[in-house]
Amino acid sequence: MPELPEVETVARDLQRWVAGATIRDVEVRWDRTIRHPQPPEQFALELRDARIARVGRRAKSVVIHLADGRVMTVALRMTGALIVAPAETPDDPYARVVFHLADGRQLRYRDVRKFGRIGLWEGGALTVHRRRPRVAGRVAERAAAYRAAAYRVSDVFARHGPEPLAHGFSSARLAQRLRGRSARLKTLLLDQSFIAGVGNIYADEALWRARLHPLRAADSLAPDDVRRLHRSVRSVLRQGIANRGASFADYVGADGEPGENAEQLSVYRRTGEPCLRCGTPVVRIIVGQRSTHFCPRCQPAPEQPA
Ligand SMILES: [Zn+2]
Repeated sequence: MPELPEVETVARDLQRWVAGATIRDVEVRWDRTIRHPQPPEQFALELRDARIARVGRRAKSVVIHLADGRVMTVALRMTGALIVAPAETPDDPYARVVFHLADGRQLRYRDVRKFGRIGLWEGGALTVHRRRPRVAGRVAERAAAYRAAAYRVSDVFARHGPEPLAHGFSSARLAQRLRGRSARLKTLLLDQSFIAGVGNIYADEALWRARLHPLRAADSLAPDDVRRLHRSVRSVLRQGIANRGASFADYVGADGEPGENAEQLSVYRRTGEPCLRCGTPVVRIIVGQRSTHFCPRCQPAPEQPA
């Protein structure tokens, strides 16, 4: 599943290749990929002749800003990919949505397992949650107002935590967020409301680099531990971006090519292989139904098992 570095790679590719391009027409081949607006024909209609101003990322979504201020969000989920196909490229049976660009190229949303979702929204801040207007009246009126209010992009990301690579995400801020949390570190790192964009690969990598056991309780960390964790989370994500992401299954950049970070990982999916620091075989356990890899020597177990 694409995490922050993989989605960031796709967003940077698209910024380079499709910023400034105009969407001539949209073909929706799998209706459920379209989250908003409904029906999908409306989505296609509203995008006709829209110009792409710039492409960025928030959490694990690609965010396509249109010149008129509207925003398209693409959550890749398990197997989604956004690929720029030059004119005359053979069709892709897994393309669920095809954006025909005015210059003859196609921006293809490819998704084998079809879990990804695309939405088109009114613009707004991606990080600040706009308060919903309070509406009196009957249930039906309130429901209608609620639906109308849910149209902005800020609501898409309302439940997401801070961006770990943002300037404002300091070690002090992480310490503040960890305080009073008894959850296990691995669980907390995967919680998108705690911190946005980290998934199974980069959580394991960050904890190994910080020498912290995945089952440590968040509020058991000493100040030094927090600083190491902060540094580690950011460095594994930056390394992931530098290597254009990690490909284990379907992930590819917008050029259709896999990333190179999978070969650079230290513990993830290295069960039984020697720890790169101390040589102890890497161990795999299950935490919250997710495979978790760590070095039992470098990452000592918490004194009171959680
Ligand atoms: Zn080790």
